[in-house]
Amino acid sequence: MSESQAIELDREDILAHKRHEFKLDSEVIYLDGNSLGAMPLVCAQRAREVIESQWGIDLISSWNKHHWIDLPTQVGEKIAPLLGAAPGQVICCDSISVNLFKLLSCAISMRPDRRIILSQKDNFPADLYIGQGLSELLGTDKCELQLVSESEVQNSITDEVAVVVLTHVNYKSGKLHDIQNISRLAHEQGALVIWDLAHSTGALPLEMDKCNVDFAVGCGYKYLNGGPGSPAFIYAATRHQHAIKQPLSGWMGHSQPFAFANQYEPASGVQQFLSGTPGILSMSVLDAALEVYKGVDLIQLREKSLSLGELFLKLVNDKKELSSLKLVSPEACTERGSQLAFSHPQAFEISQALIDQGVIVDFRSPDILRFGFAPLYVRHLDVFKAVEVLVEVVSDQIYLQEIYGNRQKVT
Ligand SMILES: *Cc1c(COP(=O)(O)O)cnc(C)c1O
Repeated sequence: MSESQAIELDREDILAHKRHEFKLDSEVIYLDGNSLGAMPLVCAQRAREVIESQWGIDLISSWNKHHWIDLPTQVGEKIAPLLGAAPGQVICCDSISVNLFKLLSCAISMRPDRRIILSQKDNFPADLYIGQGLSELLGTDKCELQLVSESEVQNSITDEVAVVVLTHVNYKSGKLHDIQNISRLAHEQGALVIWDLAHSTGALPLEMDKCNVDFAVGCGYKYLNGGPGSPAFIYAATRHQHAIKQPLSGWMGHSQPFAFANQYEPASGVQQFLSGTPGILSMSVLDAALEVYKGVDLIQLREKSLSLGELFLKLVNDKKELSSLKLVSPEACTERGSQLAFSHPQAFEISQALIDQGVIVDFRSPDILRFGFAPLYVRHLDVFKAVEVLVEVVSDQIYLQEIYGNRQKVT
């Protein structure tokens, strides 16, 4: 594979024009869009408009005039097609952590004779912390987090499990779960499922409705490009919406917030997952960012993502200088999301040296180098150049320079 072949792949890429919708210098090799998506140009425009015109001039009347009050629903409905969800089931609010707390609590109360939350040992730690927190709050006689290894998940779904909570694409390895199969196994045992779609939404097609998923959460700032700290979302299947009892019963989830009644009465539908006032600045920016997905065929998006990943893996495998990098992701592209992970004892130092040479990647403790391929803006040429730089950094041992060992607060 040569540089000109990579350029040829970009020439044939039906999604190539999408990169121009992002603020990305042509030299930037950004392989970290799975952690913080790049900035769509419309976001800067919308942020200015919301700050200067809506808030700055129209002030409080903007809640009606610019429909701020409807943003959580509006953004939810824009995300829904990416999830394979019919209208009325997705709402934008809070963070994944907070949303997961609401959903876990809700699921436990929907299965009052069961107390087990089943999850995976190497799930994203925040998801486990939320399960631990809820268990502590309710007491282990009402709620207990049971953690098993990935290979034990299926056999551990018994009729004692209230809810199975898993991340679709593992944040480290990129390994995919079979949503349809696991959801079916859970339902056969009378359990509910909650899927964390943080590393899936906007990277591959999803079919929440078709797979009969009960609940899901996902992230606004990864592949959806909503910006740092952008709000997350909740999917709740219509069939459960009458039975939902979520504990953060704030006024925005009330059936009539502006009646200011003393007694909480949940809104019908997915709106009842709202708690407090939405962050209008960041939700507006996410709303704008989602415009980028208009007209994007998710099957083509997935094909591009796999093409980038396959190219990266082939180039790495072809270089004997890179034999010290051990693939942690599944070998087969159909078994992984839109990222590749490799372990190396000096993964952190290598990540820092790569960033210093203009290849932006990330590191996950203790020894994982992660390369994310956001298919809307990563080019095959970026992949080609990234591997060239990686070869240099590893074979010349550039990563051993002292500055690359310096760990800051965020790694
Ligand atoms: C990024 C990520 C989160 C983020 O949670 P927040 O509470 O929104 O910060 C949660 N779960 C997974 C699997 C993630 O990758």
